[in-house]
Amino acid sequence: MSTVSAYAAPSASEPLTKTTITRRDVGPHDVAFDIHFAGICHSDIHTVRGEWGGVQYPLVPGHEIAGIVTEVGSEVSRYKVGDRVGVGCFVDSCRECEFCLAGEEQYCNNPGMVGTYNGVGRDGQPTQGGYSGAIVVDENYVLSIPDSIPLDKAAPLLCAGITTYSPLRHWNAGPGTNVAVIGLGGLGHLAVKIAAAMGAQVTVLSQSLKKMEDGLRLGASEYYATSDPDTFKKLSGSFDLIINTVSANLDMGDYLGLLKLDGTLVELGMPEKPMEVPAGALIFGRRRLSGSLIGGIAETQEMLNFCADHDVTPEIEVIEPDYINDAYERVLASDVRYRFVINTESLR
Ligand code: NAP
Ligand code: ZN
Ligand code: ZN
Repeated sequence: MSTVSAYAAPSASEPLTKTTITRRDVGPHDVAFDIHFAGICHSDIHTVRGEWGGVQYPLVPGHEIAGIVTEVGSEVSRYKVGDRVGVGCFVDSCRECEFCLAGEEQYCNNPGMVGTYNGVGRDGQPTQGGYSGAIVVDENYVLSIPDSIPLDKAAPLLCAGITTYSPLRHWNAGPGTNVAVIGLGGLGHLAVKIAAAMGAQVTVLSQSLKKMEDGLRLGASEYYATSDPDTFKKLSGSFDLIINTVSANLDMGDYLGLLKLDGTLVELGMPEKPMEVPAGALIFGRRRLSGSLIGGIAETQEMLNFCADHDVTPEIEVIEPDYINDAYERVLASDVRYRFVINTESLR
């Protein structure tokens, strides 16, 4: 075992503080790497604050992890010391169920993927995430970061990138499709960039027009404020696909009404409270409401390669670890442009 510095939440109501954690010895199939950057996802905040329940404290969050390999196990074939690598939301799964075999490990049902944090590894130990100096992960759950993507910008792609890429691919966003993105935060701004790179026509639906200039620069052709009731009249029946990245509950009826016949609204945000959905909003227009969970390992690698090929990277604000608690408050206030990324150098 090795010891490494980290930032952990002691409980749901206390700020994160600096601590030390242990990482397992490098097994035959493991890759050990120094963490250089870790993104702050809104899911870290939901989890830390106990909004989804079932948290084991102290908890080290962080599932947007990028760094450089320092050691590999005797059987590792994919990676070598010095490689630029990343880890996303999960670090293991059963590898046998139909979903694992299909490369959709995030939907593993036997009993489920092992979260990068707040999970339990094969060794029976709780998993701890990327707000730390180093990590040890089985090579099958490690991603290769293309050379053209700097490590700090690669980190948010490991969750925000794949979470938006996967549904855009699944629902065939591309030339001739009209896609709306609700919420211009960490996920939302990457959804705009990726959908535009896929060739779709993109509209941002944000609470206000404050970020309009950014939204258009990122690749949207239209931008509307959802605080203006006229937006919903004007855009009624407009979209093939709506990607909802909002972390709070919205009036789903209003948004479903923006879909064309047979259009789909994909829910990515995970608010604490259940969603209310008026049946009529689905029935009139034969509309669909779906969800989507991150993406599998192969698709995550495909997304990284796609982002390298299309020059898609997140807009980030790099912070030091002692700013994590302030960054959380700013994310909660929608004051993020557009992802906080922790420079973990002082934790190595
Ligand atoms: P974020 O950076 O905080 O972005 C959320 C955006 O939603 C905000 O920037 C804001 O955009 C909008 N928003 C926030 N509060 C709102 C409110 N009360 N009403 C209307 N709009 C509001 O968060 P994120 O990291 O992108 O994550 C977004 C959600 O996705 C979280 O719930 C997270 O847990 C979830 N998530 C899901 C998956 C998955 O696999 N499905 C993966 C990662 C994250 P505007 O200012 O533009 O309105
Ligand atoms: Zn995330
Ligand atoms: Zn499985």
